[in-house]
Parts: sequence; C-alpha cells; structure tokens
Amino acid sequence: MFVDTHCHLDPQYFPESRGGPDEVLSRAQAAGVHGFVVVGVGRDLEPARSAVALAKRIPERIGAAVGVHPHDATTLTDETYEELAKLAAEPEVAAVGEIGLDYHYDHSPRDVQRAAFARLVGLARALKKPIVVHTRSAPADTIDILASEGARDVGGVIHCFSEDRAFAEKALDLGFDISFSGIVTFKSSSAIQEVATWAPLDRIVVETDSPYLAPVPLRGKPCEPAFVVHTARRVAELRGIPADELAAATTANAERLFRRTFRPT
Ligand SMILES: [Zn+2]
Ligand SMILES: [Zn+2]
Repeated sequence: MFVDTHCHLDPQYFPESRGGPDEVLSRAQAAGVHGFVVVGVGRDLEPARSAVALAKRIPERIGAAVGVHPHDATTLTDETYEELAKLAAEPEVAAVGEIGLDYHYDHSPRDVQRAAFARLVGLARALKKPIVVHTRSAPADTIDILASEGARDVGGVIHCFSEDRAFAEKALDLGFDISFSGIVTFKSSSAIQEVATWAPLDRIVVETDSPYLAPVPLRGKPCEPAFVVHTARRVAELRGIPADELAAATTANAERLFRRTFRPT
C-alpha cells in the first residue's frame, strides 16, 4: 500500500467531463495507492474549498492540506486569512500547506512571501497541525523562518524535495520529514538521489505533486496519484531495499506525519 502525500486534484486539472477525481482515485487504488493528501492552493480559496469537500466525502482515504502557495503570497489579506483559518480548522484538514518560499519564479515579491510564510506557520501552530513546505531556490530563508517561527512544535514535511543533503539535515533537525516526487527518478537528479539513499527510513515519504512531474518511465504525461508507485520503486532501488519494505515504511510515516489512518475501501 502506498500513500501519495501531495497531489492537486482540482477540477481545472481533472475536470468532471473526464471522470473527475473519482476516476483518478480508482486508478490509483488499482495501482495500490490507498491514501492521499490533496492540496488545495491557488489565486483564491476555491481549490482549498474543493480539497476540503473531497476529504469530507472520502475521509477514510483523503486528508486535505490548505494554505497559500508562495506564488500567491500577495493574495493573503486579513480577509483570506480568516477564511483559510476556518477551513484549516476542519477535522478533514490534515495539514497547513503548501506554504513556503519560491525564489525561482518570484511570482510574489520575496518580502511578501516571507511574511505570508511566517504568518501561516503561526496558523499551523495555533491549530497544532503539521506544515507542508514548498521551497525552491530559498534554502537559507526557509530554514530561518521555520526555526524562528517555532515550526518545530508541529513539524511537517518538505514536499517535492529538490535541495541537497545539507538542507535535508537542517530540515530533519527541525522535525521535518522529506518527501520525494518524480524528480528523484530523473537521471539529472543526483543530489536528490543521494538524499534518498541516505535519509532515515522513518523520516521519508513519497508524492506525485500531480498533475506535474510524472516520474520515469511516464515522464511527460499528465501525472496522477497512481504514478507514485514508480517514484517509490526508484527510492527503494536507490536504498537497496524491497519495494514492499519502502511502501510499508513510507505509509507508516505518512500516517504518523498527517495523524490519520488511510484505509482501502
Ligand atoms: Zn510545491
Ligand atoms: Zn503542490
């Protein structure tokens, strides 16, 4: 059994006219993927509302994560914060996220990204829920904010890990687990593969980040949660352990991290 710890299933990616999330989830189930953390982020709170609605409909398999992506940091006003805080308090919401810093695209000014990230770490702490961190080209500021805002109290995960070992060590010290996406299957990803080989087996999880980043051998296709199996196999191969052992460990880690049990139906 596998858990996809990070996927986006909004109607804009998987429209009802093509079967919507239900078909995606049943293909995943057929592949052995029984648990999902569905992330709802966007320019407004519609994706967050839709992730929460999906988790309410299928709570035995889905936990939602809601937040404001660093790309959209300029949209975080007092008003959106209040609504987000209400949504995030729902029991079907397993985590606050994805939140963080993205200095690669710089879609929002960096000072605005930092302020939004810090504020939302505070929300996670207030709700005692783990944090799903998005970080790209901003390793030092990400660690600084997690440390200074007391993120250690709730912990969480560095999603779509794309940094190096030095960053991984700091994140693990702060109580954050490491999530590997399809990027770990790419030939060019030697630094990430090194972390996948070395990181403690009880501190790693896997994800697709659907609809992006399909793993080898499906690279280039629209990504969906069923594909997490390929990412998990590659991580198992890198570590020299059977895929079953990796599946059992990452599932147990996901359940501990997101404080829920995922059940096949
Ligand atoms: Zn992300
Ligand atoms: Zn994402």
